[in-house]
Amino acid sequence: MRPGPARGIRVGVIPMGEETRLAAKVIAAHVEGFMHLEAMVLDPLPRPDFALDPQRLQYDAGCVIEDLESRPPNRCDKVVAVTAVDLFVPVFSHVFGEARLGGRAALVSLHRLGEAEEGRRPPPARVLERAAKVALHELGHLFSLTHCSDPGCLMHFTGDVAGLDATALLFCRYCREFLAADGCGQRSEAGLV
Ligand SMILES: [Zn+2]
Ligand SMILES: [Zn+2]
Repeated sequence: MRPGPARGIRVGVIPMGEETRLAAKVIAAHVEGFMHLEAMVLDPLPRPDFALDPQRLQYDAGCVIEDLESRPPNRCDKVVAVTAVDLFVPVFSHVFGEARLGGRAALVSLHRLGEAEEGRRPPPARVLERAAKVALHELGHLFSLTHCSDPGCLMHFTGDVAGLDATALLFCRYCREFLAADGCGQRSEAGLV
């Protein structure tokens, strides 16, 4: 039997801006390869300028997710949008991604994933792998998975790129079993995670 949430579930990946198209393709491939779900890249959306906070000069992730969830489903059960803008949620200085537990739409930002470290830009392949890890983590939230205490699991919370790089492209056994059971589609009011 194939692992992963109920088969027949379709995930749409939305590039928000042309510069995120490659990342969207890579994310779709990872959703198929690691979650065994059907994934497709959907038509691009523009940069989410409506979510810009003029004080912080960052974009409100919750606001973008609300907009995505208000759109027609486009034959997809879940959507993951990819943006190059810097995202925040009110309690954090920035976030790599955001999703509502059990929700329909998640968001991934490439902005901090490609920042120079010690004066050097990370290789593009590493940035794409980080984006895929963030996307799978946020998708896990859409399937109602909460954060995991296992530091080797994709659902472990990590706030920096070093932590992301140290995480394998793997869900732990517990999270895998949760996904394989009936983890998808359960709604929760736990808010953004
Ligand atoms: Zn786990
Ligand atoms: Zn999370």
